[in-house]
Amino acid sequence: MTKYNLNGKIKTAYFSMEIGFHDKIPSYSGGLGILAGDTLKGAADLGINMVGVTLLYKHGYFKQVIDHEGCQHEEREQWDVSKYLQKTNAHTVLYIEDRPVHVDVWVYIIEGIKGEVPIYFLDTDFEENDPRDRQLCSNLYPIEKQMKLNQSVLLGIGGVKILRDLGYSTFDNYHLNETHPWPAVLELKNIFHSKTEVKNHVVFTTHTPLKGGHQRYTLAEIDVALEGNYLSLIPEELYDKDQVLNTAILCLEFSKYANGVADKHQEVSAQMYPHYKIDAVTNGIHTNTWVNPYLKPLFDAHTPLWREAGFNLRQALSIPIDQIQTAHQSAKSDLINLVNSLRIGASEKFDPEVFTIGFARRAATYKRHNLIFSDLERLKSIAEKHGGIQFVFAGKAYPNDEGGKQVIKEIVQLNAICSGKLKVFFMADYSISLSHKILSGVDIWLNNPRPPLEASGTSGMKASLNGIPNFSVLDGWWLEGCVEGITGWAIGEGRTGQEFEESELESIYTKLDQTILPLFYNNKPAWGQIQRHSIALNASYFNTHRMMMEYLTEAYIIND
Ligand SMILES: *Cc1c(COP(=O)(O)O)cnc(C)c1O
Repeated sequence: MTKYNLNGKIKTAYFSMEIGFHDKIPSYSGGLGILAGDTLKGAADLGINMVGVTLLYKHGYFKQVIDHEGCQHEEREQWDVSKYLQKTNAHTVLYIEDRPVHVDVWVYIIEGIKGEVPIYFLDTDFEENDPRDRQLCSNLYPIEKQMKLNQSVLLGIGGVKILRDLGYSTFDNYHLNETHPWPAVLELKNIFHSKTEVKNHVVFTTHTPLKGGHQRYTLAEIDVALEGNYLSLIPEELYDKDQVLNTAILCLEFSKYANGVADKHQEVSAQMYPHYKIDAVTNGIHTNTWVNPYLKPLFDAHTPLWREAGFNLRQALSIPIDQIQTAHQSAKSDLINLVNSLRIGASEKFDPEVFTIGFARRAATYKRHNLIFSDLERLKSIAEKHGGIQFVFAGKAYPNDEGGKQVIKEIVQLNAICSGKLKVFFMADYSISLSHKILSGVDIWLNNPRPPLEASGTSGMKASLNGIPNFSVLDGWWLEGCVEGITGWAIGEGRTGQEFEESELESIYTKLDQTILPLFYNNKPAWGQIQRHSIALNASYFNTHRMMMEYLTEAYIIND
């Protein structure tokens, strides 16, 4: 059986604008943050010597409220910081917009199988600070650009400084999760003195395949935020002809190792930044966090070391299929009960025997939440022919993304139109706990973003872990995880271009009608094989244990 034995000598500080690891701590908006939390949990399990650094958000990201028309409203999160985090004695000061900003720090300790990983939350929301700087610890991803930039300065420069005040000497690696903590490389110059030495200590992971997806600031904006001596550390040649700095280029320039988050994303990133070497480490999920409670005893019985090392989940092939299906049906009943309790005033209930499609992720137009409803009549006839289809949706739109908000509205309005054999429900306020419920209890996980815009995607991995087949376009992780008819099904051929939308839609309807629904309704044992393969083939690989082993061997221990 696979067991890891690491000596914990390599020290890594992991900087991320969001870290989602706890349902009561609203310090994340979505995939990037959840991945960061799962990363640190994986490190704690393996005994990797690591700390996390992020900002404290007293009002979180936002709480999503959906009104009767389907409009999203953003409300402030409220949470009791001192109930979940411990205040430390560390303190530092930095300058933002020429004002001194005092920084305190709180800690949460993640307890893993073999070790512990502390997460440090920087806090500026107290009396000594100007109200503008106190605001930096109010919300994740404020709309205002200068405020975003100032948060980056706080996280990057303040983060490196506070680690010294916490008593750490230097780290072997400063891992920048996305570009947000980019100013850290400037502060590291104060520690390591030469660019070469800074570079030897920085690892950078990019998460977006979108041109223009990385943060960009003008020299003038950066000049406002940063103290003069930091500004002079940014090489002039990194600005473009309009004096704009793409922070991804700064991170690439100052890192010994950079990676995308799936093989395909590595390819796309290398095309975006041809002057730099970019590797691939495919994302994973933290198995113990995301598996539903009904499957855990089966894993314990048949693959006893799964908590220590996710690779062991390949032994899930020995779990009897009917036991997997019974566990899944329990998780499904929990979800359906929750859905029915929230569908106030609905005359017909969701049915735990009916095929249920899950679709939960950030509401953005390129993710095409409503693609499957393009030909509603056809979808209805497919549903009626086979025994019914129920849809469970969730996801927040960025507060200033009108396109994303429109998508939510259209789906909520379908709620009223669909009944009988086709039912749709949108669950408000996607969060860790809601994600857990949905990703444990649906029958299939639908994912149809416009290729190649999904860097990796991790929710589909959570589905696999829970014995839920994926039905997805060939993009991100699914290019590596799809074995047609064995772990799920592909939508379309993974070609890039708007012109393929019609053939992707056709692929959705045809496979549902001819392959997926007949199998689900008429051949439970064959369906169960796919559920079991999802666990044994995909969950055994797409987990943070495998991912952290790759970071360790590819990025953290190389040091020259
Ligand atoms: C897993 C997860 C995500 C990321 O899902 P993607 O498939 O990467 O979009 C976002 N939000 C929550 C709450 C999650 O649990």
